Amino acid sequence: MADNFELRDYQIKVSDFIISTLDRSGHAAFEAPTGSGKTIMGLHASITYARAHDLKIVYLTRTNSQQDQVINELRILAPRLGIKAVGFQGRYNLCPLYREVEGREEFSSDSLSRFCNSRKKKVIEGNQGACRFFNWKVRHESTMTHLFTTMPKVEEFAQYAEENTFCPYESLKHASTQADLVIMPYAYFLNRDISDRFLARWGVSRDRIIVVMDEAHNLMDAARDISSYSLNINLINLAEREAKESGDPMLLGNTRTTDICEALRNAILDLVKDLLKEREEAGIRYEDFRGYVATGARIRSDEFEKVLTAMYDLGESICDVKEKEGRVPRSHILNLAARILIWSDNSDEKYIQILSREKEGNIESYCIEPDDVLRPLMESFTIHMSGTLEPFDAYRNITGFGKMEMMKLGDIFPQENRLILYDDSISTKFDEMDGANIGRICGIIENLASGLNRKTAVFFPSYRLMEMIIDHGIGLDPLIEDKGMKQNQLMALISRYRKGTRPLFAVMGGADI
Ligand code: SF4
Repeated sequence: MADNFELRDYQIKVSDFIISTLDRSGHAAFEAPTGSGKTIMGLHASITYARAHDLKIVYLTRTNSQQDQVINELRILAPRLGIKAVGFQGRYNLCPLYREVEGREEFSSDSLSRFCNSRKKKVIEGNQGACRFFNWKVRHESTMTHLFTTMPKVEEFAQYAEENTFCPYESLKHASTQADLVIMPYAYFLNRDISDRFLARWGVSRDRIIVVMDEAHNLMDAARDISSYSLNINLINLAEREAKESGDPMLLGNTRTTDICEALRNAILDLVKDLLKEREEAGIRYEDFRGYVATGARIRSDEFEKVLTAMYDLGESICDVKEKEGRVPRSHILNLAARILIWSDNSDEKYIQILSREKEGNIESYCIEPDDVLRPLMESFTIHMSGTLEPFDAYRNITGFGKMEMMKLGDIFPQENRLILYDDSISTKFDEMDGANIGRICGIIENLASGLNRKTAVFFPSYRLMEMIIDHGIGLDPLIEDKGMKQNQLMALISRYRKGTRPLFAVMGGADI
């Protein structure tokens, strides 16, 4: 057990289970209810095992607020256990420079990476003005000391860095090479190219790290998301416009870029007509799509990939020109060609492409077996934790972690601390939502919220019902979780709820905070 750190008995049990399982099979999973301290259990076990075996830790979270929660725990744990920890996010959240560029909303993560690399190169070549944030402060000892001693949340550090005119992204990237534990988003680490580069910088191989997965029930979705994409008429139109602005270069023989864009657009429209008929959507094979495009563009089917590669190269050169001109280095032609090239590489067993009428014609590619994305994780020690992993066998099978051992932490909250009451005089059935029923619900909520000398949170089964109650008029001044609230707005709402006395109105299964 780690030094002087007090865990509850059930937390020690879980931590011991994880440690012994990592020793036996390398892959541990546990399910524990909300409020049981999953984060502290996962951290405690992983840090204890890592220290004993000289390993590094990557802690994956899905949202920024989950990342903040881990940092909160680490502020207590890290100094006691003598480890260095840092939170990390991508440039999109951290680069202060791109927000100053005209057309910044056009940045994708690829174009931002291209933009950043080019700016840094110019700074190294002597043009300090190319990025005023890429300066000596980025890697300075005082910056690293600030990071490791105060353990700021990523947003806090971004603000600090901006105020002191240096790049938070580059600082965190540098700090992570000195850290024992790095917290980062799933999407970042599951991208094999990115994680390979990250680990190379860190100087560790995959078999020398423990990957802790917070809210691991999201693992499959996160893996699917990074290998799914869509192809639609709008993207083709944007690429066509870009081709015209760039002089409509030849791609192959007499075939111009706009000829291919037109053939791609017609292929989707014709496929919608021929394949869908009366249906809303249908599966589509790459060979069929390629055949339609080749016929429309009057090229041989086997020349299609050559054309796509030429389009890709054209897109790259457009990005270079834009970058030199100080514009956003993004190309729709590049984006379009890259998506179809990925499709041409994808196997039919692991991916499914669906053609639909959406947006005049849309092809959506879904990864149904993201085992290629998950396989690199199996080279490391892994800890999967969640409030909802059962049925375990299904989780083990779909993720492919065959040797994984699992533990479920049962009910840890004493029965006597809970009071569950129900009132059968009201109903939330839609056809019974008349004024009288809504009025009764309002009355009950008002009585509870004002009659108890406690903080009150009211969770509704739907946003619609919550709106009906608010519209009816209720004698309370609640803080309200709006549908579509951004994460920082939600966190601000929760913070006001914690600090104040107003009740909270929210929706069950609504925002994930
Ligand atoms: Fe942005 Fe930092 Fe790159 Fe400069 S060095 S472009 S501030 S990410």
